Parts: sequence; structure tokens; C-alpha cells
Amino acid sequence: MTAGDKLFGRLLKRAPAAAHELPDHLGAPPIGLHFYLDGNGDVLQIAGPLRHLLAQHKPQGQPLPLRAYLLPHSLLSVEGQPRDWHGQLLDLDFTGLNDQPLHLRGWVQPLNDGWQLQMLDIADLLLERQQARDRDACQTLAAQVSDRLRTCSLTRLPTVLGEQLQAIAQRWHIPCLAVALLDEQAQGWQIHQQFRGHDAPQLWEDGQPLGTPLDSLNGSAPQRLAGPQGRYEHSRLQATFGNANGFAVPYSNDQGVVAWLLCGFYTVDNVAPWLTDRDWLTLAGALAGPLLSRLREQRHVQSMERLDSLQNLLGTGWWEISAEEQIALAPTLASALNLSDRLLPVGDWLSLFHPADRAELRSRLRALQLQGEALTLSVRLHRAEVGAAATWYRIQGQVSGTGEHRRLVGFMLDISDIQNQQQRAAAAHARLDNLIASSPAVIYVQRYAEGALIPAFFSASLQPLLGWTLEDCDTTALVERVHPDDRELYFQRNRQLLREGSVRARYRLRDNRGEYHWLLDEAKLLRNDLGLPVEAVGLWLDVTDATLAAEQVRQSEERYRILVEDSPAMICRYRPDLTLIFGNRPLATYLECTPEQLPGVDLGGWMSEEQRGAFVQRLSQLTPEQPVSTAEISLQLPGREHAWWVWSDRGVFDEHGQLIEVQAVGRDNTEVRRSQQQLTQSAKMATLGEMATGLAHEINQPLNVMRMAIVNVLKRLGNGDVQVDYLTDKLNRIDAQVQRAAKVVDHMRVFGRRSEIEQQLFNPAQAIEGTLSLLAEGMRGKGVDLRISETAFEAQVRGYVDQLEQVLINLMVNARDALLGKREHDPAFKPWISIYAERDEESVRLWVEDNGGGIDPRLLERIFEPFFTTKPIGVGTGLGLSVSYGIIANMGGQLSVRNSTEGARFCIELPIASDDQITR
Ligand code: ADP
Repeated sequence: MTAGDKLFGRLLKRAPAAAHELPDHLGAPPIGLHFYLDGNGDVLQIAGPLRHLLAQHKPQGQPLPLRAYLLPHSLLSVEGQPRDWHGQLLDLDFTGLNDQPLHLRGWVQPLNDGWQLQMLDIADLLLERQQARDRDACQTLAAQVSDRLRTCSLTRLPTVLGEQLQAIAQRWHIPCLAVALLDEQAQGWQIHQQFRGHDAPQLWEDGQPLGTPLDSLNGSAPQRLAGPQGRYEHSRLQATFGNANGFAVPYSNDQGVVAWLLCGFYTVDNVAPWLTDRDWLTLAGALAGPLLSRLREQRHVQSMERLDSLQNLLGTGWWEISAEEQIALAPTLASALNLSDRLLPVGDWLSLFHPADRAELRSRLRALQLQGEALTLSVRLHRAEVGAAATWYRIQGQVSGTGEHRRLVGFMLDISDIQNQQQRAAAAHARLDNLIASSPAVIYVQRYAEGALIPAFFSASLQPLLGWTLEDCDTTALVERVHPDDRELYFQRNRQLLREGSVRARYRLRDNRGEYHWLLDEAKLLRNDLGLPVEAVGLWLDVTDATLAAEQVRQSEERYRILVEDSPAMICRYRPDLTLIFGNRPLATYLECTPEQLPGVDLGGWMSEEQRGAFVQRLSQLTPEQPVSTAEISLQLPGREHAWWVWSDRGVFDEHGQLIEVQAVGRDNTEVRRSQQQLTQSAKMATLGEMATGLAHEINQPLNVMRMAIVNVLKRLGNGDVQVDYLTDKLNRIDAQVQRAAKVVDHMRVFGRRSEIEQQLFNPAQAIEGTLSLLAEGMRGKGVDLRISETAFEAQVRGYVDQLEQVLINLMVNARDALLGKREHDPAFKPWISIYAERDEESVRLWVEDNGGGIDPRLLERIFEPFFTTKPIGVGTGLGLSVSYGIIANMGGQLSVRNSTEGARFCIELPIASDDQITR
């Protein structure tokens, strides 16, 4: 039986009848609506109380077909003629007054020669049916929504929820639909997700917070919210629904209202009049219930994932021991421990740990099992690799639940990092302690209290250093241990420390034996977060030795400084480029300036180009192995003549053997030099004097020749024999003799001069020639045979040609004396002097040899000594050889003698000047 039939029965106050049982009499009081139709279906008459509800209830003029009274969708039911409809139940909608349709049901039956259509009002029936249908649809939709939400995957949940919102909105023509949930902090409601029709205004957004206005609604039933006309009670609620009509359906569980289904721009009574509040509650429940449980599930999954990743990150995980002495481990833990199985016997698990920790773990585990004592223990894994850092786990466990729910659970946490760090820190600490204890420094802490610094800690090195301890030492005691002379310094140190935050000072502290130690004190003030001083941390370094050593160095430096300053010698330091770094007063005096003006002055500025070259050349020969060189240098000093300095240089080298500085000591040798020169000069004069007889002969000889010539010419002239050729010949001879005499006199004049200041380059052959020009004739006149070898060769020596000549003259005169002396005893003796020269790569040697019998070997050693002579007083001076020796040495050469078979053999050896010396 359908709902419609029930209604029908109610209306007729009897059981419903089949169509063919319908009343067939017209006399019965008309109920509903009656149409009398002709055979074609045209309306002849209308009767019954409902006829007033028809838009057109009286047939006017031409009878109209029944179709004219019907709404268009009912036309199909009345196709053809009434005969065709006979026996059918007809549901027809008529055009009513004010466009209100009339839903009627009825049937046709023949009446007389026409038909009677009898209709009854079935609006109620339809309403109920519609309600039933809607409720069904609602139930179905609710089931579908719930089902979809329950079964979809979590990732698709938002999409599926959106689809379900859309399905509900479309089904009930809701423009804006949303599900609101309590937000996570439970501070109010939040639009979880919303849907709006394509032409609906945007009322909400996903995730939009709504605040608490929904709380003002009654949570037990859906709420109809009137828009502008009805006014909400709560203005914030009004805002929630955009000031339009709304409809809110709550969803409650045991915690009260936990969700709202919100319908915006929606008047439920107009759009879904057939749905009851219960239907809406069901629908809201179908949506919110599964949604909340899925969201819970999602949160759970997320927290599980978080937990898992946390466990992974921390190397931690849970464990649980079952009654069967099996232990189950979290997957992360099993993999961290390299276990293939997550379930293993407790014994196997214990064997994973280091033997040193295993027994304790076992006993603590038993205490947990038997007495329920909570377990907390740090243990090491037993690893085969030696030397690898230990893996530490903290194991914690407890009993949870009682009786048959009693469980032994716990977790393991990898604390290797912390543990190893702790161990390293402890080791470092120990090392540091050790270091502090064994260092010569005392580390101390002074506590700050109202401006005073009170000793609070001393490292163990205090005892060996000063022999006292922290206990012996409060502030006043410490001050008393400071050397009285240094106390002011110490107070100053405290003030500076407090003012500037750090200080470095040096003062003396007394040890317990009464001896003072020089301490280098470095301290820093530590402040708290407010910038207030808390304590001073510092160290004392015993610098007694260093301080005393520095003092000694200072004193010795002072002594040397005085020595250098006061020394009569010239002392200076200069760079290899001859720039002075320092020079003492005597040097400054020579250079006519103050010692302060010396640094930066070029020492070479007082030397000639040549002297400077020789000086630098000499410096270049200094080596770290042979750092000292001494020489006599000559300078042109300001406003003075030539100065001669005996100059001693010591090179200072860097680690690469590079000359960086020269330290020099000099002594003025000018006076000595000058006396030497005078001596040489006097010796020369003496030589000249000695040569006087020879020279007289030398000059007499030409004079004799000239006199002979003149006598001869005069004799011819007396005879009247004047031959021009003869006269010319004689006069030429006289002229030659005049020239010869003039040459001798000239040479004597040159020889008698003082030597040049600078040494010159010359060929030694020149000196031999000069010597012979002065002596040769005289020697021959005395019957001495001169044997002169070829002496011309190209070699230059450096020195003074006149002085070399002087030496040669000395040697020849000495030889002559020895020869003549010998001939006195032996008139048959044939004396000779041989002079010859030779050279090699480096030097020239000039030989002067005689056959005078030589020198007594016992005297050989001494003949170069000044004033040594074997000649009678007034004859010999004993200076000849000594001066000669000095001259040759000054030219860089050497004068030596040995006895040959017949006499003495002197050798003058001179270095040949190198090419670059010659070109310079
Ligand atoms: P002096 O000739 O005034 O004595 P010297 O210094 O020239 O002074 O000579 C020193 C001494 O050396 C001479 O007195 C002499 O005894 C010795 N002597 C020098 N030359 C010869 C020589 N050729 N043969 C032997 N004795 C010599």
C-alpha cells in the first residue's frame, strides 16, 4: 500500500477500493471535483467544492476540451477520448487560481451518453510522497557521502570531501556550503572546506577562521538563520553568513558540537521543505562523522610518521619484552642495530651490548621484571672494530598496566654523540688540568665584591712557584706579598682591570721563602648579562729569569754603548751600499758632523771613484766563513788632506748567507802614513846622496867627451883647418852629450819629488830603465859589469814608479857596495850585477843578482829590519832594505832575498793589475 492510497482511504473514511469499484452514481453529494464530458472529452459541466479553486471553473460558450483546464505536463495523461482513459487512475494537475496548481487524482466512468470524470485532491498525498522521496534521497546521499569519505585514501580526502559537498549542494540547491570544524587550537571555528555554486558569491574560503559566533547557536538542532528581514541575534554570526539567510546543521559527539554544516544564502523551508531536521542532522553526521574520523586518522598517521622519522633521526625506538622472554623492537631500532628480525630472545639482545655493561643491564632488567623498578642505563654496543668510537645507548624501561595488561616497555636512545663528546670533553678537561698544573703559569680567579678583588682560585702550579696556597691569601695578604716598590703598580693594575676590563702588568711577588719573583700578570674581567663585574680571570707567568736576563742584556748593552761612544776608534755600522746606520762620535768628528747626523750618510762619498770601487770589491769578498777583512783605505775628508784609515770590517749575514750589514772599526793611520812617506822620501834623498859619486861620474862623462871635442875643434881652428863637416860632426857630438847630461839631471829631479798620493798603473820595465839611466854609467865607471836581460814586456802593475826605481837603486847600490868591498881584497875579482825580469799570469818578478859573495846566512833574517846595517857608522843607514820592503808591500807585492852560489839574489814580486783595474 502506498502513502497515496493511505491518504485516499483517509479521505474516503474507508478502505481504498480498486478502480472498478469506484462509485458510479451522480446523486451522491459531490466531493472534490466532477467534470461531465461528452464522448470527445469536452467539458460540459463542472461540479464539486474544489471547482472554485480552478482558474476557470465555469464552462462559457463553447465547451472546452478537458485539456484546456490542465497544466501542460498533464496533457499526456488525457490523450485521445474518455473511452480510452476508462479503467485508468488519472493524476492530473489543473491550472488553479493564482497559478497555484491543483494536484488531483480520479477516474472516468460512463454516465448516460457521456462520461463523468471524478477527481479528488491528492496534494497531501503528494507532499508526503515527496517527503518520503526526499528523505530517501537524503538517506542515500548520506550513505554515499559517508561511504565515500570512509573509503577514500587519505591523500584524496580533500578532493572527495569537495565532491561530497558539491553533491549535497547540488541536490538541495544550496549556493554556498561549508563544513566548519573546531580549529586545532580549539580557539574557535574554522571553515574546513567549502563549496559554492558557479554563480554563487564567495562567502567562505578553506581554512577561514570564524571565531566563536557559532557557539551561540543551539547545538542540538539545525538552525535557521534569518537574513536582513529576520536579523540575527548575533552580529558576528550575521557576518559569518554574509548578512544573508543561512542554515546551520550541527554535528555532535560525546564532546558536544564538533562540526557544523553551514548553508549560505539558503532558506531551507523553501528549497527543501520535505526534509526534516533529523534528515539534516543525519546528513551532517554522514559528512562530519567520517570526516572527523579520517582527519583523526590523518593526524595519527602524521604523528606516526613524525615519530618514525624522529626515531630514525635520534637512533631511538621502543622495545617491549613479552612474557616469553622475547623482545620486540621498533623497526628503526632493529635496523639501527643491524638486526634482520624485530623479534628476538632477550638473551640475544643482551649479547649486543659490551660485556662491561651487559651484566648490569641484565640485573637492572630483572629488577624491572620482578620489582617493577624503573630502568635507566647507558650502555655501549659490543662492536668488533677496534679503535672505532663506541656507540652508546640510553636504555629506559618501565612497567605499564597491571595484571594481564602488565607490559614491560621502554625505549633505546642513541647517545653516542653526547657520550663521546662528554668523554672528549672530560679528556680535554683532564689534559687542560694537567697542563695548568704543570705549566709555569699560575691561573687564578679573583671574585669581585663591591670593587674589591678577592682571590677565589689558584691553579695547582701556585704551590711550586710561590709556595703558598689560596688559604694563605686573602686580599690584604696578597697586597703584602707584592714588593713594596711595586705596590703602587699593583693598585694601578686593579684599577685598570676594573675600568678597562683587561690588564697586563709586571710586578714582584714574595714567595714563602721571602724571595721575590717577577710575575707577568695578564687578567680579564668577566661580566654578567647586566654588564656587572663578576670575577677576574688571569694568569701569572714567572718572568724572573727573563727579566733578570733582560736587565743584564740592558746593562751589558749600556756598557757596550759607553764603550763604543767613548772609544777613540771610529766605530760604525753600515749597509752593503755603504749607507751608515750608526756611527760613533770619533767618526762623526772626522766627518765634521754630529753622531745623530750620521745615519743615512754615504760612507763612499769621501772616497774617489777608484777607492770606492776597491772598497766595494773588498766587501764583496766577505763570506759567513770569512766575515772579517782589514785594509788601509784612503779618503778625502772635508777640509783636510788625504786621510789614511786602517779599517776593519765584519760582515753580518742573514740565514741565506746574504750580507745585510757591516760593522766596522777604524783607526786613523794618516800620521803613520805621513811619517812613512817622509821616511821613504828621506831614504830616497839618502839614496840620491849615496848616488852622488855615481852621478858626478854620470855627468862628468859627457862633460869629458864635450871637452875633448872642444879641444879638438879649437886645435883644428888654430891650424886654420876649418872643415864644415868636421865642425858639424863635433858640435853634434857635443849636443848629444848635453842631452845625455840633461836627461840625467831631469830624471834626478823627478826622482827627488814626493810620490803621488794615488797609486798609478805603470810598466815595471819603465823603472828598470829609469834606474839604469841614473846608475849605469857610474857602475861601469867602477868596473862593475851590468848584465841587463831583455826586459820589455806588456804588463802593468799598480803603485809608484819612482818608488820602484828607488828600490831598484837601493838593491843595485847595495850590490855595488858588496862587490867593491870584495874587490878590495881581491883585485882580480870581476864584479857583475845581473838584472832581469819575468812574468807569469799573475805577477811580475824583477831579479837583481850579484856575485859579491852573498849575505851571511845568520843575518838573512834581519837585513829587512830598519837600521840594520853591517856598514861602518856614517856609511850605512840600515834603512834601504827596510824602506824598500815597505814600498813593495804597499804595492801588494813582496821583496825577498836568497843567496845564490856567487852572491845575493833579490826578488821583487809584484801582482799584475787585472784588466778591469786597468780599464777603470
Ligand atoms: P845599508 O846599506 O845602509 O847598510 P841596507 O838596509 O840597505 O842598509 O842594507 C842592510 C845590510 O844588508 C847591509 O849593511 C849589508 O850587510 C847587507 N846587504 C844588502 N845587500 C847586500 C848584498 N847584495 N850583498 C851582501 N850584503 C848585502
